[in-house]
Amino acid sequence: MSGPVLAIHGGCGVPPRGSLTDAQERRARDGLKGALRAGWALLRDGGAALDAVEAAVIALEEHTAFNAGRGAVFNADGKHEMDAAIMDGRDLKAGAVGGVARIRNPVRAARAVMERTDHVLLIGEGAEALASRAGLELVAPDWFSTDERRASLREMKARQARGDVSEASQRLKHGTVGAVAIDRAGHLAAATSTGGYTNKLPGRVGDTPLIGAGTYANDATLAYSGTGRGEIFIRTVLGHELHARMAYKGESLTTACDAMVFGDLKRMGGGAGLIAVGRDGTVTLPFNTAGMYRGVASASEGWVSIYDERESL
Ligand code: ASP
Repeated sequence: MSGPVLAIHGGCGVPPRGSLTDAQERRARDGLKGALRAGWALLRDGGAALDAVEAAVIALEEHTAFNAGRGAVFNADGKHEMDAAIMDGRDLKAGAVGGVARIRNPVRAARAVMERTDHVLLIGEGAEALASRAGLELVAPDWFSTDERRASLREMKARQARGDVSEASQRLKHGTVGAVAIDRAGHLAAATSTGGYTNKLPGRVGDTPLIGAGTYANDATLAYSGTGRGEIFIRTVLGHELHARMAYKGESLTTACDAMVFGDLKRMGGGAGLIAVGRDGTVTLPFNTAGMYRGVASASEGWVSIYDERESL
């Protein structure tokens, strides 16, 4: 066992190098650093992987650079519908929420579903009622809104009207945040949170809150959080597919993740990325898009990245 490790992502919907301004890159890297520090502070001091991934995701939800919590994208009706999940690799306990619009930190609500109910996934008003009973903060739906996301919705609608389904138009849609960790005791955990896709149909639920698709953790193999075109992650049941390749086929973490991201997912037309940590502490962060907001913290390394650069924590 190599000691605790935390990896995070802020989505693989990154425009090609040179298209973000220096200020935008700075803001994203600072946001990633804040989230890594929040989670790593817990892990380093012997905290549980579950608490670390929740803390990191909360920090990313609070940051408007990322498509989760505040800064979430708009659906076709100009509303936010957010999804989140958390999973504990120790006992395969999991909780998730789908289509929530008023919970300040959807990942906290996912944890409340896991810890306070016999269910795994609650949606909409029922999830918000549980969050309220659990003492979580509810906010007005426009608390999540930013001008940047409003502009993306306008642009997506204009592109759609012109029938433009180019790669550039796909990129406008993307984003998700997630964290995976292994703690000192060797337990794994994963959490993911997202606003989904710009201009998605009202009621659309993505891969993020579907355990085994966008989020998965199992102490026997890996903790995983995905980002990209959710429908493809659902159809490949990606998280469980990675687990199965490792458990039944004996593949290494890296082999399994690369095979899916650069093989199956790519073939299916999906811009995709993921972060994963194995039971031996190995970390991998593959993506087949121009970049992925991401970072790693452990006793031996600490860095964030958008493209192929590494900036120290
Ligand atoms: N996977 C997310 C979804 O489909 C979006 C993303 O990660 O870009 O909701």
